[in-house]
Amino acid sequence: MVQITMPLNFLGSMYRNIRQSLVDMEDMFALLEQPAEIVDRPGAPDLRVTGGKIHFDHVQFHYDPARPILHGLDITVPAGKSLAIVGPSGSGKSTLGRLLFRFYDVTGGALKIDGQDVREVTQESLHAAIGVVPQDTVLFNDTIRYNIGYGKDGASFEEIVAAAKKARIHDFITGLPEGYDTQVGERGLKLSGGEKQRVGIARTLLKDPPILMLDEATSALDSHTERDILSALKAAGEGRTVLTIAHRLSTVADADEIIVLEQGRIVERGSHEMLLASGGRYAEMWAVQAEDREAA
Ligand code: ATP
Repeated sequence: MVQITMPLNFLGSMYRNIRQSLVDMEDMFALLEQPAEIVDRPGAPDLRVTGGKIHFDHVQFHYDPARPILHGLDITVPAGKSLAIVGPSGSGKSTLGRLLFRFYDVTGGALKIDGQDVREVTQESLHAAIGVVPQDTVLFNDTIRYNIGYGKDGASFEEIVAAAKKARIHDFITGLPEGYDTQVGERGLKLSGGEKQRVGIARTLLKDPPILMLDEATSALDSHTERDILSALKAAGEGRTVLTIAHRLSTVADADEIIVLEQGRIVERGSHEMLLASGGRYAEMWAVQAEDREAA
C-alpha cells in the first residue's frame, strides 16, 4: 500500500507544482499585459544600447481610435538620467511604460532608444535592455535564492548575495532560519509587499539593464519600509537611465526631471524644487500627499 501511495503522493505534488507554475505564469502575463499581435520586422537587428537615452518623439497613442490617450508627447530622458511621470489616475502614465516595452505600437510619432525606433529592433533585445521593478513582484514557489537568481541565467550565489545587499533585503534573508534556502511564495513564507518589492529590485539588479523602469506601488507603505525601498531604488538606479511611473510622489523628489501628465498631455515639467516653487498642479498634489502622510 505504502508503495502505491508514495508515487501517487509524489505525482499529486508534482501536479500541484506544475499547476502553481502555470498560475504564476498567468499572473506574469496578466501583469505584463502583452497583446500577441506585436511581431518583429523580418530581419530586424538587435537594439544597440550606447547610453540608454529614451525619446518619446511626439508620441500619440490610443487603444481605441475613438478615444485618444496620448496627444503628441515629447519627452526625453538623457542617458543615465532619471525622469518621473506623475499625474492623476487614468492620465496615461502606465501606458507610457507599455509603449516603451513595445507591448503596443505608438499610433503617431515614434519612440526611440539611443536613436533607434523600438519598432525597428528585435523585441528580445529591447526587453533585455530594460529592467522593470513592477508594483507587484511575482514570486515563484521556490527558495528566495531561486527567486532572486531568476533575474539572470546561471547567476552565481555571490552575485545573488551582492544584488540582495544592494536591494537592502540581504539582512532580512540572513535573519531567516534557512536564509537564502527559505521557501517563499504561496506555499512557503509569505513576504510583505515591501519585502517582495525588494526581491524584485534584487532580481532586476542581477539582470543589470542599462534602462530601468519603476512602476511605483499604489499602496502606501509604512515609513520604515518606504525608507528601505527608496534607498534600494536609489542604489538600483545608479549609472542607469531611469523612468519612474509614479502613482505616489514619494520616489519622485530626487528625479532629474518630473513630468505632470493630465489626460495624456504634459501640464508641468521641471525639478521637484522648481515645481514646488511654481505652486501649480505638482505642488498641489505634493501638499495633499503630505497631509495624507501626516494623517497616517
Ligand atoms: P493609474 O495611476 O490609475 O494606474 P495611469 O495614469 O497609469 O493610471 P493608464 O493605465 O495609462 O493610466 O490608462 C490611461 C487611459 O487608458 C485610461 O483612461 C484607461 O482607461 C485607458 N486604458 C488603459 N489600458 C487600456 C486597455 N488595455 N484598453 C483600453 N483602454 C485602456
